Amino acid sequence: FKIPRNPPPTLYQPELWSDHFNDFICKCLIKDFELRPNVLDLLQHVFIRQILGRERILQKQLMELIDLNQQIGTTGKTRYRHDADDLLEDLVTLEVLDENSVTEQLQRRYAKDQIYTYVGDILIAVNPFHKMELYSPQYTKMYIGAKRTANPPHIFAVADIAYQSMVSYNADQCIVISGESGAGKTESAHLLVEQLTVLGKANNRSLQEKILLVNNLVEAFGNACTAINDNSSRFGKYLEMKFTCGGTVVGAQISEYLLEKSRVVHQATGEKNFHIFYYIYAGLAERKKLAHYKLSDSKTPKYLFNEHIKLGPDIVNNTFYKEQFDSVEQCFKVIGFTLEVHILVYSTLAAILNSGDIEFASVASEHQTDKSNISNIAVLENAASLLCIRPDELQEALTSHCVVARGETIVRPNTVEKATEVRDAMGKALYGRLFSWIVNRINTLVCVCGLNIGILDIFGFENFKRNSFEQLCINIANEQIQFYFNQHIFAWEQDEYLNEDVDARVIEYEDNRPLLDLFLQKPMGMLSLLDEESRFPQATDQTLVEKFEDNLKSKNFWRPKRVDLGFGIHHYAGKVIYNAAGFLSKNRDTLPADIVLLLRSSENQLIRKLVTHPLTKTGKHTCVLCVQGDTGTGETTHHPRESTNMRTQTVASYFRYSLMDLLSKMVAGQPHFVRCIKPNNDRQASKFDREKVLVQLRYTGVLETAKIRRQGYSHRILYANFVNRYYILAFHAHKEPDASPETCAAILEKTKLENWVLGKTKVFLKYHHVETLNLMVRQT
Ligand code: ATP
Ligand code: MG
Repeated sequence: FKIPRNPPPTLYQPELWSDHFNDFICKCLIKDFELRPNVLDLLQHVFIRQILGRERILQKQLMELIDLNQQIGTTGKTRYRHDADDLLEDLVTLEVLDENSVTEQLQRRYAKDQIYTYVGDILIAVNPFHKMELYSPQYTKMYIGAKRTANPPHIFAVADIAYQSMVSYNADQCIVISGESGAGKTESAHLLVEQLTVLGKANNRSLQEKILLVNNLVEAFGNACTAINDNSSRFGKYLEMKFTCGGTVVGAQISEYLLEKSRVVHQATGEKNFHIFYYIYAGLAERKKLAHYKLSDSKTPKYLFNEHIKLGPDIVNNTFYKEQFDSVEQCFKVIGFTLEVHILVYSTLAAILNSGDIEFASVASEHQTDKSNISNIAVLENAASLLCIRPDELQEALTSHCVVARGETIVRPNTVEKATEVRDAMGKALYGRLFSWIVNRINTLVCVCGLNIGILDIFGFENFKRNSFEQLCINIANEQIQFYFNQHIFAWEQDEYLNEDVDARVIEYEDNRPLLDLFLQKPMGMLSLLDEESRFPQATDQTLVEKFEDNLKSKNFWRPKRVDLGFGIHHYAGKVIYNAAGFLSKNRDTLPADIVLLLRSSENQLIRKLVTHPLTKTGKHTCVLCVQGDTGTGETTHHPRESTNMRTQTVASYFRYSLMDLLSKMVAGQPHFVRCIKPNNDRQASKFDREKVLVQLRYTGVLETAKIRRQGYSHRILYANFVNRYYILAFHAHKEPDASPETCAAILEKTKLENWVLGKTKVFLKYHHVETLNLMVRQT
């Protein structure tokens, strides 16, 4: 690098330069850093402008120079990882950071089966859609306690960093996995759990197995085949791995959110019911027990019937289902279910399937023409016998309802439509409550209150041909997670620069707050309007969309022409057209009192239990699995929502509550983010659809994330905390020095880290500094 022949006078007056520039020039000139040609070009360009004296140095160019300098200066030649093909492992180190370069890099990596890439401290995982040789014990070992830059990016490294942070800071952690449906969230969650059980020294193999088994069991009940994903999560799962302060894993706790119960009674074209139904059907057939549960191997129950499964043999001959059934049984045993309980669970599931086959016919009577009757009494009897109730009472509860008027109870007949609705409401309620009960039963005798690492795996963003209330809820949940990501990555970080007088460039990002307001604001947000309309008996789905149209003033909401009950939302992840048909009844989600009372009289103690406790309708329940407790009676009465008034609670209001509950859990821990990307819509291996990936990179703000990670300081630690954690790197261990900025500077200088900044009250560090510091502490 040559200093221009006629350097501007200011070159010799460093006091006139900004600190960053000063720092930069000094490094170039004094430390003789190796500069890349484009940095040189830029630098010369800046000087030439100065020499000519026509323009002041442009702030933007300066910042770019500093960026590049930091990239080279801090990661240096040796620490700047790339492989033989010059593929970068951290997008932050890309020379040119734009959509094209990012996509290109991911594509080239993907072509070489390098599905993981870092963006600073965030991991991008591109779904390989085929089995990878990446998760063997050799890899497990490689990522334990290793410096991040020592190995290629990997999901195991995220587990490691969360674990190490938990142990180092004695603080809870939270790993947020996001991405659209089929992007690989659930797979990633499994891999994290596996690695964390190893990290947590679960030398007790049975505990490790139990945690993984329980995870699978919950998914057998909560996952289903959709048009997008054969194993799609139809509920939100927050799994907390519990550790002692020393870092030994002692158990796991699962919270489930918002199970899509409507799937029990109806599935869209190309979709199936929850996995468990097929598993028990095939499993019971294998054991010649179908008849015992009033099921037939030649006729498919209506709730399971779809274009793929038309005949019983389609299910009973499926060996995969049979294997899964064995695995479910094994899990039941592990969590301490007696044979009697197995039978109760299967009976309940079989009762749901049988009741789905009950048919109604319209009966004309003298006075009323809209009465209904059951046209297949034998099926009714089967359902009643499995539910352990009297068939005549079930018939009555389905085909009529009681109303109390002026102190008098009057019995009114149900129309065919109404009777069908009641039948389906019963199936949905029983299943939803059974799911929650199972999650509760996976219980422990010991509740460990130690440290925890939470793993969030929710249903991904969905956009089908026809989108209903379920998709709306799923997409709002994803909107909220994206908001949390934005807050954490952009908003809070930039606020702190301002508060602490730290000089850093502002990064623009797509703020989805207006969308959250559109959904959640009270009293004029979409969910509030939905609740309000649900309270009017006269309201219809048509009046509901009209209400939306009249009250929602947002550019993200519109009414498409030619779609009767349609409305459009421009989500952070794209435009979705919803159809409001069924919104009101899905939101009200009422289970008639007659049915509740009847089921309470059941001789099947499980059924009785399911309807006796005021379990939630859309339930979030917590189960705990611990080291001991295999044979726990598990008759937990822990129902977090016991006080809720079920009559008035709608799905929307419970949904709102669940979201807040979930967020409060997440915010309590230090977050780590995994961004799953779906490379194509055909679930094909080795197919990288650039446009598809680009859209996901755009809406998840990957480019902006890379920029802020390059320029910003993702870790802001109070002086006192910093000194407390790291003073041993520069001072005697037995005496903690004052928590002053000078002490912090002394520690940082001793470690030879560069590019940190001291704010008014905090130390500002780059994402990789903290890892290095922690490693140094561990080695001290
Ligand atoms: P949803 O939101 O619908 O629940 P998801 O993001 O949880 O979707 P997954 O079920 O994890 O998606 O992944 C879909 C499919 O992609 C898996 O069944 C598997 O076939 C494949 N897949 C995902 N990740 C991996 C991986 N790391 N290795 C191999 N296959 C994978
Ligand atoms: Mg999933």
